[in-house]
Amino acid sequence: MKLNIQDTFNKELPADPNLRNYRRQVEEACYSYVTPRVPSNPIVLHVSDEMMSAIGLDPDDAKSDTFRNVFSGGEVLANTSPYAMCYAGHQFGHWAGQLGDGRAINLCEVEHQNKRFALQLKGAGETPYSRSADGLAVLRSSVREHLCSEAMYHLGVPTTRSLSLSLTGDEVMRDMMYDGNADYEKGAVVCRVSPSFLRFGSYQIFMAREDKATLKTLVDYTIKHFHPQIVNRGKEDYLQFFQEVVDKTLDMVIHWQRVGFVHGVMNTDNMSILGLTIDYGPYGWLEGYDPGWTPNTTDAQGKRYRYGNQPNMALWNLMQLANAMYGLVEDVPALEGVLKTYQQNYPKRYFGMMGQKLGIVTQGESDMKLIQELEQVLQLTETDMTIFFRLLSDVDPAKMNEAEALEFVNDAFYTTTEIVGEVKHSWLTWIKKYFDRLSEKDVVSADRKSKMNAVNPKYVLRNYMAQLAIDKANERDYSLIDELYVLLKNPYADQSEHQQWFAKRPEWARHKVGCSMLSCSS
Ligand code: AMP
Ligand code: MG
Repeated sequence: MKLNIQDTFNKELPADPNLRNYRRQVEEACYSYVTPRVPSNPIVLHVSDEMMSAIGLDPDDAKSDTFRNVFSGGEVLANTSPYAMCYAGHQFGHWAGQLGDGRAINLCEVEHQNKRFALQLKGAGETPYSRSADGLAVLRSSVREHLCSEAMYHLGVPTTRSLSLSLTGDEVMRDMMYDGNADYEKGAVVCRVSPSFLRFGSYQIFMAREDKATLKTLVDYTIKHFHPQIVNRGKEDYLQFFQEVVDKTLDMVIHWQRVGFVHGVMNTDNMSILGLTIDYGPYGWLEGYDPGWTPNTTDAQGKRYRYGNQPNMALWNLMQLANAMYGLVEDVPALEGVLKTYQQNYPKRYFGMMGQKLGIVTQGESDMKLIQELEQVLQLTETDMTIFFRLLSDVDPAKMNEAEALEFVNDAFYTTTEIVGEVKHSWLTWIKKYFDRLSEKDVVSADRKSKMNAVNPKYVLRNYMAQLAIDKANERDYSLIDELYVLLKNPYADQSEHQQWFAKRPEWARHKVGCSMLSCSS
């Protein structure tokens, strides 16, 4: 196994001089050196063949002892110095101080075909940032992270990736629903891959500690490696950097809204500085379209991170990053000006994206109204978001009337009784408006379907699908992990042989733990 190791983070940034691994506040440093925990009996359960080749490995490398040991934590590669990153964050709206990689350990950075990849183990044991937890991860959350990272990439959503999923052979105690029912679960490790794992909280921590020198060092590092087009290091350039983060974050959230992804824990320590979806925990996929839905039971009270609130929360998080950037920019109106672009661009981007889902190029007020009215009718009866939009591409005013169109999308409704009365009337009214819109000159019906199918996925990692793969994996059957991995490589393709996954959530999964209810326990 040969990797082209080109470390920068632990070469160019200040390290914690303390090499002992115990919990502490780490000052004036971006990371602490740590050695991953040696697992008792590691087994590689699944690898992403794409990530293998992306980092320059052959498929056969995954079968080697070195691969198994390195990517489960048992062996440290020559010429590498693993480390845990130091960061802070706002959790559920409150400043939480130092958090850091409590259970993530960066192995190294690899360069391949002019791309940089940081490799990071999640669940490889304690670090100075573990606070009160054990630094480990369990199989269920690791299956979810591994599959979803790869699925999101193929959906076209900016995301961190996953190279491998391994069992450690160790048992981990978890109280899954925080209700006093703790039990042992199988320990697992995922090797995540990203150009960088820096988060908003990585910058916030230095501002909170009034350590502007390290803040500047870190921002300069980020610009140098990830925004090389920004050449100077002055106020204007820091503003330009912040603008890039704002734009990328907006882009990511628009994609989440498009595919119905709910992150579940949009704390500032879970916001990537590169605008990538990061830290797959109690995330979920909208089944019934419901802006008020969140899968995260830890957030059940305020539902801060519900689907419909994600764009607001991303902006709130960017404001916290702006507070950190103030340390370098010292110009409130200028930073506010950058934040304002998010508010200005959001409606354009959102309505543009929703228009694409409908097969139209949005133009002005009436299209916005059409979309807002759709958001309303989608909630009149529980309507599966993924199935609805996918079926809609076959709804064609040249071939059917409004009543037939409603009949056609019937498969997206969860109710088993016929749609009647007011609800039916509202649907028919909306379909009529949509048909009127489709008959306008700018819509070419011949390519509407393929355009819609390119933005409306047929397959997403529904909550119950991941849970089925987990249940089987707990019984030592790993076949469904690979089946879903392969399926979700082509989420927009028809894949008629996989029709069973183009289906509404089964009723047994409606209130099942892991399917509709997830906690932060992982
Ligand atoms: P999360 O909710 O996964 O984003 O985690 C919040 C913070 O808690 C991060 O700094 C994690 O590194 C840390 N953390 C979460 N779970 C564990 C664990 N089992 N052991 C140590 N640290 C953890
Ligand atoms: Mg996190």
